[in-house]
Amino acid sequence: MKIICIGRNYADHIRELDGGPLPAEPVFFLKPDTALLRNNAPFYVPTFSNEVHYETELVVRINRVGKAVSEKYARRYYDEVGLGIDFTARDLQRHAVANGLPWENSKGFDGSAAVSPVFLKLSDLGTDIQRLRFEMSLNGEVKQSGDTAQMIFGVVKLISYVSRFMMLRIGDLLFTGTPAGVGPVKPGDHLQASLLGQTLLDFDIK
Ligand code: MG
Repeated sequence: MKIICIGRNYADHIRELDGGPLPAEPVFFLKPDTALLRNNAPFYVPTFSNEVHYETELVVRINRVGKAVSEKYARRYYDEVGLGIDFTARDLQRHAVANGLPWENSKGFDGSAAVSPVFLKLSDLGTDIQRLRFEMSLNGEVKQSGDTAQMIFGVVKLISYVSRFMMLRIGDLLFTGTPAGVGPVKPGDHLQASLLGQTLLDFDIK
């Protein structure tokens, strides 16, 4: 399986990140399967970074194989959503971007893709995927509040776009981008995130 991550998909996050222009097309990158952090296991801050940030994101699980999926049919490719943290070594990422280098070391390191143990069926939620509110708190203090209605590119568009370049497979995970409020984690922190009020992520930073 692969982990597909969308960048720059919420205008308020772009403003806080670098103030750059809104993307004309989706931006995506991959994390390896070794980046997965499952079952609310603790996240260990890696020693190679002095600035690891959380990015809380809605995660869509792909449930069928598809290539060059049209937007019209993209809705058939998922029926469950969860939450994830796209952990980012911001200092390494900044260095990579400034030097025009790939940024895998800042985005794809072990444990950098925390995924909720539970995914919720959209049919049970009874609401559209572009009408989902989620929230993340660190040590009990709310740091990020997102609403998928604020995405620049909705999930249907993301699936159609990414599948033009690479085949989607069952079990692939699509991280759909983060809203504003990203910030650092440190050992001793406790991270929780909820989707429509239901806590899905709940783990320690070590
Ligand atoms: Mg992200």
